[in-house]
Amino acid sequence: MDISKLIGRVQRDPPKEVHELTQQLLLRSGNFLWTENEIIILEGGNRILENLITLLSSFYEASQRIEFGCSFERLLQSEFNSYRSLPACFHTVEEVHRAGYAPLGMLYPKLQPALIVYALQKETEAPITLFKQIGLEVSSVEALGGEAFFVEESIGRDLVLKCEKCGYEALQMAAKLKKDGVKTEAETLSEVATPNCQTIVKVAAFIGVKTWQTAKAVFYHGEAPEGSKVIFVAIRGDLEVNEEKLKHIAGINSIRPAEDEEIRKIGAVPGYASPIGIDRSKCIVVADDSLITTSNLVAGANKEGYHFLNCNYPRDFQADLEGDVALASEGSKCINCGNILRLTKGIVIGKKTMQKNSPVSFIDEKGKPRPIVWHNMSFNLFSIVACVAQKSYDKFGIVFPPILAPWKFIVLSLNKDRLPHDKTHLVTQALKNCKQSFLLDARQLKAGQKFMEADLRGIPFRIVLSDKDPKSFEIKNRMTGEVETISIEDFEKVIKTLFPE
Ligand SMILES: [Zn+2]
Repeated sequence: MDISKLIGRVQRDPPKEVHELTQQLLLRSGNFLWTENEIIILEGGNRILENLITLLSSFYEASQRIEFGCSFERLLQSEFNSYRSLPACFHTVEEVHRAGYAPLGMLYPKLQPALIVYALQKETEAPITLFKQIGLEVSSVEALGGEAFFVEESIGRDLVLKCEKCGYEALQMAAKLKKDGVKTEAETLSEVATPNCQTIVKVAAFIGVKTWQTAKAVFYHGEAPEGSKVIFVAIRGDLEVNEEKLKHIAGINSIRPAEDEEIRKIGAVPGYASPIGIDRSKCIVVADDSLITTSNLVAGANKEGYHFLNCNYPRDFQADLEGDVALASEGSKCINCGNILRLTKGIVIGKKTMQKNSPVSFIDEKGKPRPIVWHNMSFNLFSIVACVAQKSYDKFGIVFPPILAPWKFIVLSLNKDRLPHDKTHLVTQALKNCKQSFLLDARQLKAGQKFMEADLRGIPFRIVLSDKDPKSFEIKNRMTGEVETISIEDFEKVIKTLFPE
């Protein structure tokens, strides 16, 4: 392709909202254009994304690309309604929304295309090994309702907890933790005066127990299907509530901390609250499973200045929902082996979810309808390209791995009028013969300007044609920094060594 016809100029200045250097280089590359926090995909960007889609979808045997203008269910009903067309795998590209974070550019855009792979009636997994070909170490970690694909990166905003002993890895919002406790014989519930002890730390110190020997009350307000309600979380005093787990377990999309007035309306007293003696019709009580592991806890008496001693769940109160709603953090104990969990930062580049209740059926071998079971995997394409940029760049620009690059070669034809006759033609013809993509820059510009632009575009091999020697030229491998002079005659052989078929 001739650069003079290309839509996609390299940008002299980075977008002002984007602060991360590598992401600035990526957005100056002429492949993508950042405008008011949105990203326009130009010719080079399209080529990168298509290369990525081809690479990732190649992992799924016989997967075909489908663009469906109808609902997913309608597609299944018409194309996969019989056992004869199953199992099957197909992929599509859809836009996905996410909370954006402008300073990190394409790592966290608000809106981006995602490759979605659907595997019907078959098990499937992420192409973890293929990511190595584009320089990424991807791990599959536990997420709420599935798995997340994670790239470790110090500037990332996603948090993962890891156990180095047994290999357990999970997003912090989904991570389980070991909740040690002491189970002894349950003693009689009794009230005790605890003046000015509105926090767990104060009450534990006043009574002379550890915070894990107390039960804490945490209140939220949530919109449940049957109307808005106060959610009363009872959890051991040494633990914090993980709001994502809470929403997941309660089946509620959005929650916020409850106001004191809302807490009082259910008969609870802020600072001295427990589920004992409150109005249960106005709230949902969620008990964290940490309460099961420890006996004789100190809990609020729902009376200003008083607590209960020897509160035992579920003897003294029952819950509407019971489960794990505790937040694991750096230093928590691994659920599998008890080793200390370590917190790492990174980027979630995709996820796998398992479909729960299939609304669509197919006719099996015996003529009976059966629900179609499927897995779906999504890969956030901008975030992946941005992660590649984080790992592969030099001070002049991003260096895309050849398998992803918009063009594998850029040919800079300098001093066009003084160049030996046919030099450009012979070099570009060799590339065409070997079916290699290239961008030709034969514009009458200063050499320095052309070098600067070529490097910014992220193309891995740079060829310089000058009037020095009619029979040879210079090629730079930007991944290694090596510069070689090779003869035009040998060029096809060199290409075939670089890219064996
Ligand atoms: Zn472990």
